[in-house]
Amino acid sequence: EDSVSQSTEVPKDKLLGGLLSAGFDEGSCLSRYESVKYRKELSHKPSSYLISRLRRYEALHKQCGPYTESYNKTLEQLKSGHYTGPLECNYVVWVSFSGLGNRILSLASSFLYALLTNRVLLVDPGVDVADLLCEPFPEVSWFLPPDFPLKNQFNKFNQESRECYGKMLKKNITITTNSNRLTPPSVYLHLVHDYNDHDKLFFCDEDQTFLQKVPWLIVKTDNYFIPSLFLIPSFEQELSKLFPKKDTVFHLMGRYLFHPTNQVWGLITRYYESYLAKADERIGIQIRVFDTGTGPFQHVLDQILACTMKENLLPEINREQHIIIGPSGTHKSKAVLMTSLSSGYFEKIREMYWEYPTVTGEVVGIYQPSHEEYQQTEKQMHNRKAWTEMYLLSLTDVLVTSSWSTFGYVAQGLGGLKPWILYKPENRTAPNPPCRRAMSMEPCFHAPPFYDCKAKMGVDTGAIVPHVRHCEDMSWGLKLV
Ligand code: GDP
Repeated sequence: EDSVSQSTEVPKDKLLGGLLSAGFDEGSCLSRYESVKYRKELSHKPSSYLISRLRRYEALHKQCGPYTESYNKTLEQLKSGHYTGPLECNYVVWVSFSGLGNRILSLASSFLYALLTNRVLLVDPGVDVADLLCEPFPEVSWFLPPDFPLKNQFNKFNQESRECYGKMLKKNITITTNSNRLTPPSVYLHLVHDYNDHDKLFFCDEDQTFLQKVPWLIVKTDNYFIPSLFLIPSFEQELSKLFPKKDTVFHLMGRYLFHPTNQVWGLITRYYESYLAKADERIGIQIRVFDTGTGPFQHVLDQILACTMKENLLPEINREQHIIIGPSGTHKSKAVLMTSLSSGYFEKIREMYWEYPTVTGEVVGIYQPSHEEYQQTEKQMHNRKAWTEMYLLSLTDVLVTSSWSTFGYVAQGLGGLKPWILYKPENRTAPNPPCRRAMSMEPCFHAPPFYDCKAKMGVDTGAIVPHVRHCEDMSWGLKLV
């Protein structure tokens, strides 16, 4: 038996076509090299240019990371409060903020921004990031040291802060001069969904030219802002070299950066082996209800069933017959992984497939790992489960997601899946049609700017280039296609 299983086993590419570096200790983060066992082949290979830029980034990170000589030098400048001229290393500091899905998207955005601007990304670990994500860069940590001077101000930073770039512009401290005296050693970038027109000037070339000189950029954001980076002329060429296929940005950045820690990997693999591995087909259904009031809601259940039946994702049931006769063992099996804060939808659908046979004879198992009832971002096990469930959804073959949810975006992006998106219900009724297929696997940027930096007037940023369009689930959002 052994020889049979050996000969049929295809050696899989654990470095994902060169996306991952080979230099890690495997045991400290099993998911990094083991995830290929659970996934289909990477649907789009990274470009050789992306691979070379990632290796260059890793070298820069090693040179500039926490407590290196270069780091200490740049830190001195920060402590002195005066910019004294360019140093070797410049930084983007990502502040931990918002729900886990939002954070994963904003981290990917901040990393790509760092890559484009030759900066080093340092991550505020918040309460749980180190418990959820492995170190993505070899040898030197990506975590901001606890003694970082501005750390105790992160919570206080907002649009009104003196250090806020938008606020500086508003007060007309526009720093178009080249004088070192006027370059601050650090700037706070407020890129949270409630940001104003001044903050949004971040997405203009002129402002990027100024920011280029600032050694420390502290970023607070809950958004996937990459689509708007594609509209900044000075990044255009580099981005198209990095990503010849533009709808693979999050897929590749995500598979490069986000590796579950061993604790979370245990949760993922045990669940997968127990409930999903043996099925002929795996279907993920991610339910996120933004309505007020406690569900489950009938209209949401109706919508899930309408979508999955209409699109032939799940088989119809036969209410007239008790049994569908056919030779045993020939029926295909479908495993449906549902995720939701509530258990109501899962219970109803599971019951349906127990009480009635399917018209196709297919065997349908319905599974939901948790029902946490409400968002509890401060709890360790809660966040581990949320990450586990996003990841498990990304391991399915067919995915259905809810509108507006970054939780679903992470799953579709990591999985390389174009989901069927359930339209957002209005007035507690199931929309018709209930869902549509996504144009691409990319996440949606929920709060993009609508500004033409050159003309200095409003513009529809979803109609400038063919690869940046309005989202399926949010008419004003932008996504790469
Ligand atoms: P979004 O609000 O849907 O964009 O996603 P976020 O991940 O940013 O925030 C929602 C948070 O609520 C998650 O991080 C979880 O803490 C929790 N949550 C929402 N839906 C689920 C779910 O299906 N399963 C679990 N375990 N947690 C969920």
